[in-house]
This record gives sequence, structure tokens and C-alpha cells, in this order.
Amino acid sequence: MAVDQPRIEAAVAEILAAIGEDPARPGLGSTPQRVAAAYAEFFAGLAQDPLDHLRDPVPVGDRTGELVLLRDIEFRSVCEHHLLPFLGTAHLAYLPGDHVVGLGKLAAVVETLAARPQLQERLTEEIADALQTGLAPRGVLVVLDASHGCVTTRGPRQVHSSTVTMASRGELALPVARSEIIALIGGSK
Ligand SMILES: [Zn+2]
Repeated sequence: MAVDQPRIEAAVAEILAAIGEDPARPGLGSTPQRVAAAYAEFFAGLAQDPLDHLRDPVPVGDRTGELVLLRDIEFRSVCEHHLLPFLGTAHLAYLPGDHVVGLGKLAAVVETLAARPQLQERLTEEIADALQTGLAPRGVLVVLDASHGCVTTRGPRQVHSSTVTMASRGELALPVARSEIIALIGGSK
């Protein structure tokens, strides 16, 4: 189901009234529509299946299935506890089984799963699960590094803090493999 924008508009007008503002004053007149449009974008992934991006993997063929690592995929999500954005980078690694997939498809999996109310920990696991299910690789490692609006702008106001989460599957869950990939990721900045 697509996001119900008129319903969001009504709710935003109500929030404006609840903070003591006049939703009808000129500066705020279009705010409910703007917020509704932003929410439609933030939550577009609710109506999408991340596995759709992995439907046409390419056979590895003669090539050996060595490690594939896509670093520094920028993503934006919304924390489900506060509905505030969190922004960061994703690094995806997999050891191919019989198939590989275009690199843009990997980024699309992140985009779809991030465009939902999320927790960073769960988002990390869901990306790993989608890659595991869609590509049947020998191993998967996902690392997310993100800065949370609910930490940087309110409460603790830790402006420079970031949160790193990791999920691994199969051969890439082995400590030696993880160390190698984390060293490669660390060299990206
Ligand atoms: Zn939060």
C-alpha cells in the first residue's frame, strides 16, 4: 500500500496545533503537504520487496568467486523510536556462490530496506538476510556506520557520535575473514 499522504497532512496539522502554532499562518500553510511528501519518500520501501533487486543474478561461470566488497554506500533511514532520520554509510561484502549481481542492485537493496521505520541493528540484519536469500553466497558481511538524529539533535546531543553495526553469515562470519574485510573497509576513508 502506498503511503496515505492526506492522512499524514491531517496529522501534521494536528501536531502544529498541539505545539501551539497556527497551522494556517503563511509560513506553515504548505508544511503538512511537504511533510507528507517527505514521509512518502522516507517510507517508500514499505511497499517494495528487497529481493526484487536480486531476481536476475549472473552466473559466476569460469571466474573464481572471490570476494566482492562494495564500500561507502550512502543511505538514509528513519529510526522507529523517534521518527528522526539516521544517516550513514553501508559496506557490503559477499563471497559469491554460483551467482553475482550488478553492484547497483546491492545499493538498491540497502535503499529499499532503509526506506522503512527502522532500527540500525535490524536494518543490518535484514540486508544480510536479503543478500543471503537472494544470492545464496558462501558468505555475507554487512557493516553500517550511521549518525542518529535522535542522538545528535536531542537527548544526549552527541553531535559527533556514530553507531557501527555488523551482521555476518556463512564463511564471512569467521573471525579471520571478518578482520580482512574490516581492514579493507577501514582503508576507504
Ligand atoms: Zn531514535
